[in-house]
Amino acid sequence: MGRVVVALGGNALQRAGDHGTWPEQVAQMRATATALAALVAEGHELIVTHGNGPQVGTLLRQNELAEHELPRRPMDVLGAETQGQIGYLVEQELTAALVRARVPRTVLSIVSRTVVSARDRAFAHPSKPVGRYYTEAEARALRKREGWQMVYDGARGGWRRVVPSPTPRRWIEGDGLQKLLARDWGAHVVPVVTGGGGVPVVERGRGVFEGVEAVIDKDRTAAIVATTLQADTLVILTDVPAAAIGFRKPWERWLGEVSASEMQVYLERKEFADGSMGPKVEAALSFLRSGGRRAIITDPPSLGRAMRNETGTRISPG
Ligand code: ADP
Ligand code: MG
Repeated sequence: MGRVVVALGGNALQRAGDHGTWPEQVAQMRATATALAALVAEGHELIVTHGNGPQVGTLLRQNELAEHELPRRPMDVLGAETQGQIGYLVEQELTAALVRARVPRTVLSIVSRTVVSARDRAFAHPSKPVGRYYTEAEARALRKREGWQMVYDGARGGWRRVVPSPTPRRWIEGDGLQKLLARDWGAHVVPVVTGGGGVPVVERGRGVFEGVEAVIDKDRTAAIVATTLQADTLVILTDVPAAAIGFRKPWERWLGEVSASEMQVYLERKEFADGSMGPKVEAALSFLRSGGRRAIITDPPSLGRAMRNETGTRISPG
């Protein structure tokens, strides 16, 4: 038993090959919600966080297509919009799943802001591709007109906008939520927090924050959430049942029970790709360094068995 923070990947919300229709997302969330409700039924206190990659990509494209008629909104605002739509989806499906599992709770989505440093090196080196692929001529025009940084993606043969992915420092709403949970709220409420890693803001003065054009890795923020709320377990749900070494090589080996120090060695050997499995492993290790007891990387169908130490990658401190 204990407090569990579960981070849902874009893939726990939308399967590869889906068109991203609302009914597809509902169906996908329904399956994930059933697995989450089973955790609560087993006596765990649950906090949910989630990614927003596909959803923010859709909003960027809609803004772009409509800009002759409606002003384009900045990326921080789009991040907040995705917290609203995904938060609503989690509320809908998880509320129903909790009732089915006979452990009704109020599922409460919280629009969350994450503070980043204005001096973060990422602002000078934007690295995270967002939105669609462009031709070379379009990329040149956008660079000039919008001041966007564009990179060429050789594998897909197109240009993409890249934005900074600064390190999350603090989740603004976290202190307040920690106080509420300490007052036994955990028995009644399932909070949904820091969607898409939280809306990125920089601090301009006491209580004064300004949204920035950036994205935050949701796994890195999930580690901050789990630490701030003093969770026992951080679970990162994605579309693979575990982390592997030699991933997609003939000598591939899926990892089960593993210590943080062993995982650190694999991380330094670059076993986990940047921007996908890498940040998950980093988040797990950072949580364990700040007092967490267990971090799990698995997929939604394996969640229950992974919590019972039967499958998935389970990382322990030490
Ligand atoms: P999410 O939306 O859940 O964050 P990501 O695509 O960011 O999903 O990360 C999951 C992906 O990481 C997997 O689909 C897999 O292709 C990739 N990956 C990279 N390195 C590894 C590894 N060493 N072990 C397992 N998966 C890996
Ligand atoms: Mg990811």
